[in-house]
Amino acid sequence: MNQRDLLVIGGGPAGAAAAIRAARAGVRVTVFEKGPHGRDKVCGDGLTPRAVAAMQQLDLALDDAHRIDGLRMIAGKKVRELAWPTSPRFPNHGAVWPRRRFDTFLIDAAIAAGAEVRFDSEALPVMEGDRVVGVSAGGETFSAPFTILAAGAQGAAAKMLGAERDPDEPFGLAIRAYAATPRHAERHLEACLSLRDEHGTPVPGYGWMFPAGDGTVNIGVGALSTMQGFKKLNLNTLLDQYTAIVREPWSLGEYIDKPRAWRLPMSSVRRHGPGWVAVGDAAGFVNPMNGEGIDYGLESGMLATEQFLANPATAPETYDRLVGERFDAFLRTGRRFSFLIGHPLLLRTGLRIAVGTQATADITLAVMGNLVDNETPGAAGRVMRIADRALAIADPLLRRTRATS
Ligand SMILES: Cc1cc2nc3c(=O)[nH]c(=O)nc-3n(C[C@H](O)[C@H](O)[C@H](O)COP(=O)(O)OP(=O)(O)OC[C@H]3O[C@@H](n4cnc5c(N)ncnc54)[C@H](O)[C@@H]3O)c2cc1C
Repeated sequence: MNQRDLLVIGGGPAGAAAAIRAARAGVRVTVFEKGPHGRDKVCGDGLTPRAVAAMQQLDLALDDAHRIDGLRMIAGKKVRELAWPTSPRFPNHGAVWPRRRFDTFLIDAAIAAGAEVRFDSEALPVMEGDRVVGVSAGGETFSAPFTILAAGAQGAAAKMLGAERDPDEPFGLAIRAYAATPRHAERHLEACLSLRDEHGTPVPGYGWMFPAGDGTVNIGVGALSTMQGFKKLNLNTLLDQYTAIVREPWSLGEYIDKPRAWRLPMSSVRRHGPGWVAVGDAAGFVNPMNGEGIDYGLESGMLATEQFLANPATAPETYDRLVGERFDAFLRTGRRFSFLIGHPLLLRTGLRIAVGTQATADITLAVMGNLVDNETPGAAGRVMRIADRALAIADPLLRRTRATS
């Protein structure tokens, strides 16, 4: 009875993108989402130009989003700004789109395309040997030749598939709140790179002000696990310290609701197997350079469905290879970089260089804005490739001397 072509566990951006592509191709697809319709997600709500390009590939308009034209970076007293450049790869604008509305828009687009979506429905894979043959949810079993794991930061479903975070790799933690501000309609994201914890230790991460255009700003802070004293880091205190810095320049009101924190997974020991693949956060696709995961979720979700449509039998292997070709080298560089900036001295020196001149700041801004990867031509791309090679050589040393150990 419960036979489908494709099953998707998780109805965030990654799962919705996979389902939209599948339903539009006439595939009988069911998405299981454990939250209700209109659930919220702890996030900064920032879409880079690359994420906007992914939305365009899905043929979805951003009318409900607040348009963003660039990025402002603050380190100590230095302030640098970048307008998103026009490039052949990405549009010249990003967006802020509060996740409750953004995710609802995406999942409604999947439903409109013909996908069945079961809300309030927690699903787990059903295995025959090492093959995923379907999912169980709410006491029912559903069968399909292919299942996409899009369940976000790794939990019970990932554990069953051995798709957990690599304990030797870094990850992030971040917290966010909303607050009223007269500057809500500004068109620049703001990132403060010179965060310090309550003991004065520099934090590898950043504080953000992402204006949402609806009377509020998304305010948050994030930190990488490579930081000295990470296990004792109190995110609520860090957020309050950051809020105290930005309260006056932003004429900030009180938090509208209680600040909420969540994980940013940056690795997965496995992202495919017989009958299944993982996409988005479930595959550890968060950029360690800026904490961005929405774009990677949209892109990997689309790619997984494309491989399923091309050939369900070979889809796990082809997806794994293609998604690896697209993301692995860049994300590996990012993880190595996060070990580097976990050292307080290196972070302080690095920051001075990163924002020291407009030329270096432009490269930093391009990295923070995800405008650059190892394939990008020009100065920023060259720096990425050099950094990639240098960090590869330094990697064993950086891991041995990691600040947390
Ligand atoms: C504080 C913070 C700030 C961030 N800021 C940004 C930002 O500004 N820009 C950006 O690009 N990224 C940001 N990220 C990262 C971004 O939020 C994630 O990368 C993104 O949500 C990944 O999308 P996803 O679809 O893979 O997972 P999710 O959005 O987490 O969706 C997964 C869904 O699966 C559901 N689910 C889980 N388990 C099950 C199950 N067993 N059965 C059924 N359903 C299940 C969950 O309810 C959830 O709806 C931030 C993250 C944090 C924590």
